Amino acid sequence: MSAPAHITASASWRSDFPALHQKVHGRPLVYLDSAASAQQPASVIDAIARYEREDHANVHRGVHTLSHRATEAYEGSRDRIRDFINARSRSEVVLTSGTTESINLVAQSFCRPRLQAGDKIVITHLEHHANIVPWQLVCEQTGAELVVAPINDRGEVELEQMLELIDDRTFLIAVAHVANALGTVCPISRIVEHAGARGIPVLVDGAQGVPHLEVDVQALGCDFYAFSGHKMFGPTGTGVLWGREELLDAMPPWQGGGDMILEVSFDKTTYNELPYKFEAGTPNIAGVVGLGAAIEYLQAIGMQNIADYEHDLHTYMVSELKKVDGIRLFGEARDQASVQSFLLADIHSHDLGTILDHQGVAIRTGHHCAMPVMQRFGISGTARASLAFYNNRDDVDRLTAALGKASEIFA
Ligand code: PLP
Repeated sequence: MSAPAHITASASWRSDFPALHQKVHGRPLVYLDSAASAQQPASVIDAIARYEREDHANVHRGVHTLSHRATEAYEGSRDRIRDFINARSRSEVVLTSGTTESINLVAQSFCRPRLQAGDKIVITHLEHHANIVPWQLVCEQTGAELVVAPINDRGEVELEQMLELIDDRTFLIAVAHVANALGTVCPISRIVEHAGARGIPVLVDGAQGVPHLEVDVQALGCDFYAFSGHKMFGPTGTGVLWGREELLDAMPPWQGGGDMILEVSFDKTTYNELPYKFEAGTPNIAGVVGLGAAIEYLQAIGMQNIADYEHDLHTYMVSELKKVDGIRLFGEARDQASVQSFLLADIHSHDLGTILDHQGVAIRTGHHCAMPVMQRFGISGTARASLAFYNNRDDVDRLTAALGKASEIFA
């Protein structure tokens, strides 16, 4: 029986990524760290190089040809992003340096002017530091309270308990779409439904959602959605804050400078329209051009094909990892995407990562910027293998073989 089309397609996808075709410590590279930063296809690298060689100029204000071309490429990427996440309009697509900046923007521009002492921001125990610390900062600034919804031993949000925490003092809910340390897919629609009925806005940290799942912000029903270019096969230093237009419209600018103004005098400055009101200073033009190319690449494959393929591969990875003597898995949610955390016997995760690297297998080790998750499980860190559509079963087999070797070394 031949393999399903989406399984065989992986071989050709893989060949599009130059960095995957190299040896590390004399072994063909197995890259299982895409949750930290995903590799870029040749089309992204080429789009950036073309921009740098032929079109490099500043955007928006220039009258010369190169500036027109740069503006067209930059704004073309915004249109692609709008289409990719099904935003209602391009005004809702704010270009940032990444998820971290997007979340800080909401904390400082949406929350800070409105939060009152005693108001609550509700998050979950699963969050990345980028979806914890900006809320802690704004709570310190305003006297609001950060409330954390618990998770269970499988790494799932305790939804009923979370919903009970939401009351008439809740100002905002901020939750990961997919948790980076454990891979849990969070029940966004249930949370949004509950919050929406009470008029409470929901921010979704989509850093690990967008690379693996089809995201339609209108269907999700949230109010803000934040994500990073480098986790979705684009360049570092790029990202997006999507927000509902009426919310963004009512928010003051976060940073002042060029591009976010219409007119400046010493008496009064008037601000630019959306989304430029939130884009002060010369942006990462080459990066945004590359992000547009990454989205074009993803759309050609189809996010549903990617999700299906990765689901099969993740299931295979979990079943193979479970066969390894002495392995302990962290994160066994019923709905999980592309990530598996584990520990092997009593080997420190950093030692494990180093031994695997010497066998050409790149994984992430440590707390994954999710220290509260580690505290919840009483550990200091994990080893984490994270998949993308360019991985295959051979990569998983190399991972488990390398773990066997680590066991021998530490026996
Ligand atoms: N949120 C999640 C779930 C993440 O996985 C990450 C990065 O690992 C971030 C936020 C922060 O992303 P960035 O560093 O690109 O801003």
